[in-house]
Amino acid sequence: MKKVGPTRGLGVRYGSTVRKRYIKVITELKKPHRCPQCGFTRVKRESVGIWKCSKCDYTFAGGAYTPVTKLGVVAKRAAKGAPVEETAKATAAVESATEEETTE
Ligand SMILES: [Zn+2]
Repeated sequence: MKKVGPTRGLGVRYGSTVRKRYIKVITELKKPHRCPQCGFTRVKRESVGIWKCSKCDYTFAGGAYTPVTKLGVVAKRAAKGAPVEETAKATAAVESATEEETTE
């Protein structure tokens, strides 16, 4: 039986925990993402952290594996001028929530 799926190229290497994490990341990466400009789900990853809409050519910066990250939402809120104390609290919440996630 031939194994198929995102990890077929990895074989039995790296162990099951890493493979599971890899599947989660790759699945997220390959999903069609919604364009913040035109609303079509035509956004594809151009490069690490760079996302481009094939419908309207809108290019924007995002997370390494998903266009929108929890941290990005907090950063946006901070940029809008939310109270510093509240932002710091939100950042701390995000940090503890994302502790398990791997970044590049
Ligand atoms: Zn678009």
